[in-house]
Amino acid sequence: HGEMASSAPAAERAHAVCLPAAAQGHIIPMLDVAKMLHARGFHVTFVNTEYNHARLVRSRGPAAVAGAPGFRFATIPDGLPPSDDADVTQDITLLCKSTTETCLGPFRRLIADLKAGGPPVTCVVSDVVMDFAMEAARELGLPYVQLWTASAISFLGYRHYRLLFARGLAPIKDVEQLTAKYLDTPVEDVPGLRNMRFRDFPSFIRSPAPDDYMLHFAVGITERAAGASAVIVNTFDDLEGEEVAAMEALGLPKVYTIGPVSLLAPLKGPSSTINMSLWKPEEECLPWLDGKDAGSVVYVNFGSITVMTNEQLVEFAWGLAKSGRHFLWVIRPDLVKGDTAVLPPEFSAETAGRGLVASWCPQQEVLRHPAVGAFLTHSGWNSTLESMCGGVPVISWPFFADQQTNCRYQCTEWGVGVEIDGSVRRDAIADLITEVMEGGKGKVMKKKAQEWREKAVKATEPGGSSRRNFDELIRDVLAPCF
Ligand code: UDP
Repeated sequence: HGEMASSAPAAERAHAVCLPAAAQGHIIPMLDVAKMLHARGFHVTFVNTEYNHARLVRSRGPAAVAGAPGFRFATIPDGLPPSDDADVTQDITLLCKSTTETCLGPFRRLIADLKAGGPPVTCVVSDVVMDFAMEAARELGLPYVQLWTASAISFLGYRHYRLLFARGLAPIKDVEQLTAKYLDTPVEDVPGLRNMRFRDFPSFIRSPAPDDYMLHFAVGITERAAGASAVIVNTFDDLEGEEVAAMEALGLPKVYTIGPVSLLAPLKGPSSTINMSLWKPEEECLPWLDGKDAGSVVYVNFGSITVMTNEQLVEFAWGLAKSGRHFLWVIRPDLVKGDTAVLPPEFSAETAGRGLVASWCPQQEVLRHPAVGAFLTHSGWNSTLESMCGGVPVISWPFFADQQTNCRYQCTEWGVGVEIDGSVRRDAIADLITEVMEGGKGKVMKKKAQEWREKAVKATEPGGSSRRNFDELIRDVLAPCF
């Protein structure tokens, strides 16, 4: 941490354009990569969608996008019609479709404009999800690196949808087919994946429409990644080295593990303080935790996209109440589908003095806080890595996309999690909280999580695999001429 800038070879004339996908869980790791490049002497242009850029300014003020010397922001439209509600999580399917279909032109023009107004662009780093950028990079003969912001296991899960098609397991005919028995069907011989059931594949596989957009989008992007100059993944070798080798065996270019990028990003230096939370974090979360005993708080947060019904919210509420524990619960303003979240009036009386409800928090700091003893999570990939970096065991309620696959590995391979079954019931939640916070299984999971933390730290320290890979990526792919 922080030493990178001084020990690094300068790449003063290199200029990287970083293009994240337009969702919070993609922006955060791309920002870390951008900071890592900046600390190594790259000029950086970080490309937001106009929608998210305006949101950042609204929720956090103009300073949020002021950048730093040699680190600036630019925008392209996401192609979606203007929305009445300016601060909600956008529809992910529509966003993927719209960016794929409309963004190449604006992105091409942006690179041309950048050429006119500063050091010429020398490489493009885009999210795998934004792979229209490959065309623009190719036209200009620039190195084109793709960032996969999720797990290697989820990449394999998406890519092997084809295998499920070939075996007649998907696309399913109708939703009735998705019985518990069907979801539990073991799926064997999936290269690179272990102990998989149908339910553990990324959730788009459950779509009954043979032409479902995300089903084919997922296969398309994971196949087209073969055309990149290199692929970088926010993971580390001890955790997913074999799975990354399995990705390479699918015909991808060299795949570099460079994670957890939250640990590899510089702590000091002009770009280190740039923060791209689309919601304003409530600062009282950390002082509130300061007053609590070590390992005594359940932290609850389902990330930036998950939505639930108010009935489910109420079950979580009573589950927390029944557990008798302290809790920090983040209820995003748009967490409850089509409505605002309504907690039962008795809930606050019942849990008085025990709980803090916030709308958004500085999650990485929260998960590193000694007071946090368990994390009730949706198992988004960033949350998965951040909980490992904090040495915190998880209770998982996966919502969609890669979260099912992450949850499976947290519970059965990595030893850090237990799963809430799909129907959320207060008693089951309270029992799982008790088990993780004070049971024997919880102690084993906590120990395992702490071991992962040590391995993650090691991977990002001098001589560690992720740090070496990042050096190599710069030397061999991103800035070979500098
Ligand atoms: N996050 C945060 N504060 C919150 C909720 C989320 O800072 O209150 C951050 C979290 O630390 C993580 C990201 O938002 O880096 C969410 O990404 P993840 O992959 O976990 O889930 P997604 O939001 O993509 O479903």
